[in-house]
Amino acid sequence: MNLHEYQSRDLLSQYNVNFPKGEVGSSPDEIYEIVKRFNCEVVVKVQIHSGGRGKAGGVKLCKTPEEAKFFADEMIGKRIVTDQTDSEGVIVEKLLVTELTNISKEIYLSIIIDPDFEGPVMIASSEGGMDIEKIAEESPEKIIKIIFDPVLGLKPYQVRQITDKLGIPKKSIGQFYNLVSNLYKAFLSTDSTLIEINPLVLDEQENIVPLDCKINIDDDSQFRQKNIFELRDKKQENPMETRAKDFDLAYVKLDKGNVGCLVNGAGLAMATMDVTTKSGCFPANFLDVGGSTDKDKIKEAFRILVSDKKVEYLLINLFAGIARADLIAEGVVEAAKETSFSLPIIVCMRGTNSDLGFKILNESELNIHIAQNLGHAAELLTSVSNGK
Ligand code: GDP
Ligand code: MN
Repeated sequence: MNLHEYQSRDLLSQYNVNFPKGEVGSSPDEIYEIVKRFNCEVVVKVQIHSGGRGKAGGVKLCKTPEEAKFFADEMIGKRIVTDQTDSEGVIVEKLLVTELTNISKEIYLSIIIDPDFEGPVMIASSEGGMDIEKIAEESPEKIIKIIFDPVLGLKPYQVRQITDKLGIPKKSIGQFYNLVSNLYKAFLSTDSTLIEINPLVLDEQENIVPLDCKINIDDDSQFRQKNIFELRDKKQENPMETRAKDFDLAYVKLDKGNVGCLVNGAGLAMATMDVTTKSGCFPANFLDVGGSTDKDKIKEAFRILVSDKKVEYLLINLFAGIARADLIAEGVVEAAKETSFSLPIIVCMRGTNSDLGFKILNESELNIHIAQNLGHAAELLTSVSNGK
């Protein structure tokens, strides 16, 4: 689950990570009042579940309350598209006003779970700010990675090793070490999978000041992070992904493509991707129903898939192991009838009760094409998409 920047700041302040003074408002008048009260130059930032706001015009340095109010008026209620959102963007409902910090250097810092190391690592770069993705691509040697000792955390000598590379002056090393230690405590205690501070800046007095913050919490920790999960903002999430999550399904929307793919497991998802592209099409989305699926889940999965207007064909590629193919087939037929879905459905299904499953599909009078294997599924997809 993602948090908003203002929520992340509040959460981290409980771990002694302190940001410049800031306050949230949700109307132009509120923003005006906040800036007037602050009585200094400010930065006004849209609060959305996405980075890249600066480049998308969602961050503005303002000298006066009037200027901030004007900006708020332009932003609130608008959808913003960034490098990290899909083409529909996300809605702006709140803005964060912070005191302006004078920056002498921008650093990138994050703690993530590294899948190779299977534990927390710190990623840092002296080239922080808005172009970090470009730096990672073009000059990967400027990105430093440090592995945390799972028990002891980051050791002082590890910090000393990187402060030079990050351009942190001697007098600020203590502050930097404290910040990293506090972030690590927060990372562990909140079940985060990502805490990113970009930029972490050196101000004109060489203080270490975090200016932006992004936190991602492990969805599987909901049972013990109840307070944090209350901060969830469903309006920032893709509505289909949210619906899928509520049914314990994994939905991934892709930007191009016209084939809706119903699969179980990542392996079948990959194979389905290959089959689809081999036939000259491209997946519009993936819906992974998991291993132990039942009829209700299949029906909801079907509804979610076909509500994507880009879907012209469905490719159902399932292995009925714990799940039963006849129940899957019943789910597909009921959901297809309920949604009046008349477009071609290609089904490749193996496992428990698959014969019975095929019988139900064949008798359904839907536009169903049964594939004997994945190669056949590709052929069927090619022929339906060529209109044969
Ligand atoms: P993002 O684009 O979504 O990552 O939003 P950020 O909060 O990181 O802001 C984008 C950029 O605005 C930063 O990289 C800074 O260059 C600039 N910025 C943000 N806050 C301040 C500030 O207090 N002072 C100054 N001078 N620039 C800021
Ligand atoms: Mn940022």
